[in-house]
Amino acid sequence: MEPMHVEAVRNDAAPSRTGLVQDYVRIECPQCWAAYYLYHDGMEVKLLRGYFLRASWQISGEHPNHNPVIVFENSSAVTQEKAS
Ligand SMILES: [Zn+2]
Repeated sequence: MEPMHVEAVRNDAAPSRTGLVQDYVRIECPQCWAAYYLYHDGMEVKLLRGYFLRASWQISGEHPNHNPVIVFENSSAVTQEKAS
């Protein structure tokens, strides 16, 4: 089975690959202005729901150093440092 791809992308950043679907639900850091949207490759909404909680935890945990893209692998989140 093809693994699903889900990532949280900060609203001022671009997703790591093209062709992803942007979800409309906004996820915000509870401590600052950082806001993210989930991008995925066509995942069912009921499966996607679990990623909102993971994204919220991850975003909250990264505060105040928010990465532009957080890619969710099977069981762990891998952050991509911004290339500079
Ligand atoms: Zn924050």
